[in-house]
Amino acid sequence: MAFDAGGGESGAMSVLIIGSGFSGLGLAVRLKQAGIEDFEILERADSVGGTWRDNRYPGCACDVQSHLYSFSFEQNPEWTRMFAQQPEIERYLQGVADKYGLLGHTRFGANVVAARYDETHALWRVETADGRRFSGRVLVSGMGALSNPSIPKIPGLADFKGKLFHSAQWDHDYELAGKRVAVIGTGASAIQFVPQIVPKLAHLDLYQRTPPWIMPKPDRAISDGERRLFRVLPFTQKLMRAGLYAMLETRVLGFVVNPALMRLVQRTAERHLRRQVPDPALRARLTPSYTIGCKRVLISDDYFPALTQKHVDVISDQVTEVRADAVVTADGTAREVDAIILGTGFTVQDPIPRGAIFGRGARDLWDRWNEKGVEAYLGASVHGFPNFFMLMGPNTGLGHTSQVFMIESHIAYVMDCIRQMRAKQLRAVDVRAEVQQQFNDKLQNSVNAAIWNQGGCKSWYLDARGRNTTIWPGFTFVFRGKTRRFRLADYALEKTTSAARA
Ligand code: NAP
Repeated sequence: MAFDAGGGESGAMSVLIIGSGFSGLGLAVRLKQAGIEDFEILERADSVGGTWRDNRYPGCACDVQSHLYSFSFEQNPEWTRMFAQQPEIERYLQGVADKYGLLGHTRFGANVVAARYDETHALWRVETADGRRFSGRVLVSGMGALSNPSIPKIPGLADFKGKLFHSAQWDHDYELAGKRVAVIGTGASAIQFVPQIVPKLAHLDLYQRTPPWIMPKPDRAISDGERRLFRVLPFTQKLMRAGLYAMLETRVLGFVVNPALMRLVQRTAERHLRRQVPDPALRARLTPSYTIGCKRVLISDDYFPALTQKHVDVISDQVTEVRADAVVTADGTAREVDAIILGTGFTVQDPIPRGAIFGRGARDLWDRWNEKGVEAYLGASVHGFPNFFMLMGPNTGLGHTSQVFMIESHIAYVMDCIRQMRAKQLRAVDVRAEVQQQFNDKLQNSVNAAIWNQGGCKSWYLDARGRNTTIWPGFTFVFRGKTRRFRLADYALEKTTSAARA
């Protein structure tokens, strides 16, 4: 089955998907299951897996239980730990691509540099860096939020003469043993790789701008017996998944409904810190001054013990400069190092690259977003960008449970849209400006009152104006309810047979 590409276009693909992480692969599976074969995945790398392919730093693991952090349609009885490590998750995604025959639909090395909406033919025209061109009726971004490393603007960083790399571009050929290393950043990635590298190093300077709240990590190996049980009686794994979902969902009560509940959680984190860090001076440096939950709550049992080692210094003075062989802090101290590792996160505030997506009137998506901030209707559609959908778009990020749940909700939404476009012979759907506005006004009211905006911290959840453009402020089942059906009434419609817009 294929869309009428319109305008005499031949060979135009119906659906173009950018990216082959959880989002892109998940949508591709659902398209196949619906009997839709005319789609292509454009992937800039040479294998699938998205963030779980790129992030290969030592200790990289998921901080959500794998029985939940996986597709509902492809549960995996073989997970070896409660919190799977990166290689296992990457293998899982490769397995999904193989099993559902997605590789034949994937163009590797296809780094999308521009996508332009052709109003005459209601088609998206996409160019890749190597000059390939694709066109499709529907364009879906599965680019994710954690794709592009954020490199801090520290004077002199580019002139550092030692080894320099970001955690998402780990150089495994570089021998860290016996080296003096500076790590900048103490977020979710750093707290995972720091304990792995500390035993090898001659010295570690850990530059901490803001301490994270860290909870104990309830990780454990999953036994052969348990795996056999999940294999033989799949409903037992489904039960476990449902139990995990329900347990994690209760966290919303603290984040949104009653922030006072977060005090209980904070006490557990304080106790964890007290138990693991006996030195009061170090403990004071590692104690956050904001309410737990304001930034992403981290989990680790080996991060604090690593910091108590004699050859580790936790430095909370601001990094002001990097010299050829040293990192300099605000108090003027220069600390010599052989290597700098950046654990400085990703450009989350730019969920879509600037100057890449052009909608009606050749308008750059970022022209729109520069005016009011990053926003979309249900995190998926933006007015003026017909037939363009984002999976995991603005305000669909989570701090409390599995992002895969949100991705699958978005996939269902896009699939219902495609189904209705076909059934009703629509060639374009464009979310109504007022629908987008009302949705975001309401969403901002609710997110403003929640802990991410009120907890006394600065985080990448907020943009430069202090507007929260990343978090879904509520229960994920509410989001699922809102995305279950694609409501045509929310969109301006264009029929295939006529250029007239409804
Ligand atoms: P991150 O959470 O954004 O942490 C970046 C760290 O770098 C923060 O400590 C930040 O300090 C610091 N930083 C940034 N710019 C700096 C500068 N100019 N000078 C000094 N310090 C600077 O990044 P991440 O650790 O890579 O994690 C990103 C996200 O990836 C996570 O929040 C999470 O959603 C995801 N992740 C998930 C998992 C998982 O298990 N599912 C694992 C790893 C990562 P401030 O706090 O002061 O900004």
